[in-house]
Amino acid sequence: MNLLILGGTIVTMSSKGVIRDGAIAVEDRHVVDVGKSRELRRKYRRYETIKAEGKVVIPGLISTHHHAAMGLLRGYADDYPLKEWLERWIWPLERCMKGHDIYVGALLTAVESIMGGITTINTMYHYVEGGNEAQGFAEAGLRGIIGHVCFSWRKDEDRRALESLAREWHGKHDGRIRVSVDPHAPYTVDPEYMVELWHIKNDLNERYGSPGNPVIWHIHVAETEDEPEKIRQAFNVPVKGGVVEYLDSLGVLGKDVIAAHCVALNERDITILRDRDVKVSHCPISNLKLASGVSPVPRLLDAGVTVSLGTDGPSSNNASDMFEVMKIAALLHKGVWRNPTLLPAEKVLGMATIEGAKALLWEREIGSIEVGKKADITILNFDKPHLRPLYNELSHLVYAAKASDVETVVINGDIVMENREVKTVNVHRLLEEAEKTKEDLLNRLSQNR
Ligand SMILES: [Zn+2]
Repeated sequence: MNLLILGGTIVTMSSKGVIRDGAIAVEDRHVVDVGKSRELRRKYRRYETIKAEGKVVIPGLISTHHHAAMGLLRGYADDYPLKEWLERWIWPLERCMKGHDIYVGALLTAVESIMGGITTINTMYHYVEGGNEAQGFAEAGLRGIIGHVCFSWRKDEDRRALESLAREWHGKHDGRIRVSVDPHAPYTVDPEYMVELWHIKNDLNERYGSPGNPVIWHIHVAETEDEPEKIRQAFNVPVKGGVVEYLDSLGVLGKDVIAAHCVALNERDITILRDRDVKVSHCPISNLKLASGVSPVPRLLDAGVTVSLGTDGPSSNNASDMFEVMKIAALLHKGVWRNPTLLPAEKVLGMATIEGAKALLWEREIGSIEVGKKADITILNFDKPHLRPLYNELSHLVYAAKASDVETVVINGDIVMENREVKTVNVHRLLEEAEKTKEDLLNRLSQNR
């Protein structure tokens, strides 16, 4: 489809900066022109036009750490420590989940995310052939990297799931869906299996990927202070320094690694993350909710590490809302370090867009509004009491805008939401299905007990 987004303030997140009374021309899936509206209006007269006067246009937001299917479990268990939350509540319920539950949860998250201006999600969950997150993302029109989460206790199942996931989904839906290999964490994946999974990732890359379309590695790292002790207890291996140093000793760090959380880091860990070009997904809301601690993000940024932002899953956040994540990321480090100059608005918006794209090795196609990139575009209505008057768009986007201010969303050149109407999914029916799916799941849980 040929599209012309006309008349808005365009926050490109590229070297073109902010363009007032700007326009974007989209042909098929790509941005082909970005400039002033008076020029583009003439050049692209026949294109379907989205009127954006008075609106603010940004690159689609990118959440680099998620468990999308957990949209079905939101609010099921809150206010517990991570270990108890997982072992007593989440894992028993997840053991009862079937493909259909995973699909419905992911579809719910995909729709919620689109309605909040998110266009790309990197998600880690259980991949099941009959029903999975990839189906939900594909149907909603969301861009995403779908992982299969691996544990030492189910190696054969994981090996089959990873092969099937890559074969069925990598690069599919016009390149909108990619896949990843996701060891859950260093304390649930033993060192030998961790190394085996690294080789599986490389092998899948050779067979299904390419440098511009890689199969990446997604893992929880150093989420809590006691992680070295948990690794020692689980596998009886010596962990002398930090968790990053331990992973490096296994040879499983590189530029295609996205490490979620990175809360409990020492100086050596930070140097290794930088030297190996590991990408960090900072999830401040999840870390606060589970009382895991605060990631040393200003130190990571000073060291030159790529830091992106993640919502984490809907059970530990509990919203798939990048506006909340941006604001809390900006505020948290100012407060903790007693320094109001840390993580300024422009930096934080970058972490939610172009840095997110870099973190997922997808920056050649997404993360900014630039000629040649895929058209992933979020348009916000700024005619709201909390967004007027307007001095600085970047400030409003991080400190004042809400997910509900998002009006229209384009992903891969397709309009997936227009004037807050989702085009790809019947939202009313989905909400009914979510309630029904929840009831069925709880029935299965009570039968299993
Ligand atoms: Zn997580």
